[in-house]
Amino acid sequence: MLNICTVGEYWKEKFGEKVYRVGIDGGFTCPTRDGTKGTGGCYFCDEKGSRGVYIMSSDGIEKQIEAGICKLKKRGINKFVSYFQSYTGTYAPVDVLRKKYYTALLHPDVVGISVSTRPDCINKESIGLLNEIAKEYYTIVELGIQSVHQKSLDLAGRKHTVRDSKEAVGMLKKSRKIEVVAHVILGLPGETEDDMIETARVLSKWGVNGVKLHHLYIVEGTPFSKRFLKGDIKVYENPEDYAGIAKEFISNLSDSIIIHRFSGYANGERLIAPEWTRDRHIARDLILEMF
Ligand code: SF4
Repeated sequence: MLNICTVGEYWKEKFGEKVYRVGIDGGFTCPTRDGTKGTGGCYFCDEKGSRGVYIMSSDGIEKQIEAGICKLKKRGINKFVSYFQSYTGTYAPVDVLRKKYYTALLHPDVVGISVSTRPDCINKESIGLLNEIAKEYYTIVELGIQSVHQKSLDLAGRKHTVRDSKEAVGMLKKSRKIEVVAHVILGLPGETEDDMIETARVLSKWGVNGVKLHHLYIVEGTPFSKRFLKGDIKVYENPEDYAGIAKEFISNLSDSIIIHRFSGYANGERLIAPEWTRDRHIARDLILEMF
């Protein structure tokens, strides 16, 4: 029997009760969207910037948090991590970041902050600010690493390097208080199972604290959707196949790495494939059965 620690278990032990993320759109953009590195976004990315379906970007940060907490409290959750989920959560001058991050920490039931960003959008100033916050609050940086293979990053239009990822993890790890969670996509075009397992091993070597796994799914309007419809790109058509590789991936991670997510989730009209992406739990349940 292999060990696997999920974020739910980890946070329950750490905080003494269930803790949930509350997703926020902080009003950011991305260098692959604003023309700095590109305009159409990464080739797999929904133009909504991976925003949670319940997030209303037109609302201010405090209002979004209040609304998210109100919903989750009805489910019996009483502690929360403010989660800058949409687009690139460090992509602004540090004084702007400071205002947004501290606003997200104002609610008395918020115990920490999680910032989702790209490895090429981390710098000394943003890390300094996150370090300062980490002295007082639980702090996570979620890095869109996706793969440790440059060819895969290039084919996915990420427009950053594997070296950027390694350096970003290294810089963040210098702060013992910031937890680093790597986002990974399994099933990127051109990747073999060995490539994916290599990503697990390299992330373990780099010392990330957690991993968020996603399967490749195709959303209308993305560059990948055109290639998928032409038959150039394949996805895991059934959750069992995905669960098999996800299990191998997890088995090749260090035991200390916390699993924050087992698969992607999308439920809109624009989802093209695979259909099982609409079921939030199916892959997770299949993977957990294997441990
Ligand atoms: S994947 Fe991330 S960095 Fe790329 S366009 Fe989407 S939100 Fe921006």
